[in-house]
Amino acid sequence: MTTIEATPLPQLQCESDVGIETIPLASEGAFAGWQTDIPERYRGLGGAELVERVRAARAALGARAVVLGHHYQREDVIQFADRRGDSFDLARYAASHPESEYIVFCGVHFMAEAADILSGPHQQVVLPNLAAGCSMADMAAQPDVLGAWRELAAEFGGTEEIVPVTYMNSAAALKAFCGEHGGVVCTSSNAASVLAWALERGRRIFFFPDQHLGRNTAHAMGIPEQEMALWNWRLPPGSRGGLSGDELRRSRLILWEGHCSVHQRFSLTQVERARGRHPDVRVVVHPECRAEVVRAADAVGSTAYIARYVREAPAGAVLAVGTEINLVSRLAGENPEKTVFCLDPVVCPCSTMYRVHPAYLAWVMEELAEGRVVNRIEVPEREKEHARVALRRMLQLA
Ligand code: SF4
Repeated sequence: MTTIEATPLPQLQCESDVGIETIPLASEGAFAGWQTDIPERYRGLGGAELVERVRAARAALGARAVVLGHHYQREDVIQFADRRGDSFDLARYAASHPESEYIVFCGVHFMAEAADILSGPHQQVVLPNLAAGCSMADMAAQPDVLGAWRELAAEFGGTEEIVPVTYMNSAAALKAFCGEHGGVVCTSSNAASVLAWALERGRRIFFFPDQHLGRNTAHAMGIPEQEMALWNWRLPPGSRGGLSGDELRRSRLILWEGHCSVHQRFSLTQVERARGRHPDVRVVVHPECRAEVVRAADAVGSTAYIARYVREAPAGAVLAVGTEINLVSRLAGENPEKTVFCLDPVVCPCSTMYRVHPAYLAWVMEELAEGRVVNRIEVPEREKEHARVALRRMLQLA
């Protein structure tokens, strides 16, 4: 097979030693596809004025608001975060700060939903740009998952022996579905203990939306490939996800064919190239990467694990990291005595997270300071109750 090497354009390279310069929202090429009902007056503001305005609104709100920033958030937004972390850590942090009436979540939609599920009834969660979704979460739409569940029920004569497990990176409705059907939520840190728990309770697991996290975790647990089936949700209803009865019956793990558009880009060629250029390199990747990338890496783990791995590496270490560029870039800056670079030479930011431009943050913060809530994310109460069941089950395992 011929491997074609991508030749990155200089302005598109994933450099880990440069930040993102703020340009006015109106000059962002992709703005037309983002939330466009932001008032006109915010569109032309430059970086310096935005910083000043967000800071002023932040100061006016005091402890009434908490600003949360996901690790993959752009530099010009994360600078305002009271707390940085992964989605679960941030949701828990918000819940442990009941004095904050407003939770401004600089992340994507499913993260804001998780914060709303875990926070108190008096707290309101705000997502600065409602167009900040997650391509992985969007691959598991609730009607598709419910349709697949019904097909599995028909195939196996019921679902008593199937345990649904959803990754944190999914809609609230799917967390609720798992809570209602004896299932559970997992994160990239605890997927192995969650899968072990599920296999004690059922003959098979229905895992969504990230096939790679499911497969990589199962490999590490010693589950052979032939006991995993991949459910193609793009096929018409009634297609059994493209699987034969035999494939379904011998599966212990039915994986949803979803992926993260950022992590699926990392390739074995990139790992080999990094090793070719730096013989002493250590490669650390996220478990949302493909199985062959994870196998070729020296270490695999969540964003928190990757950050610790880089921090604990000795001075002079060379580290190639397979995760989103904003985190890699930050780690490079925080560890100047080491060489830290991104495995992917071309663009690898989370493009949906990137939609949280500082202008959106200034808008929602100034509205809050005036006592008006815009862009509230509110999960229906019934959904919340079931989702909490699935999250509590996970917490008991963590
Ligand atoms: S990095 Fe991937 S999984 Fe995370 S929010 Fe972006 S698209 Fe979704």
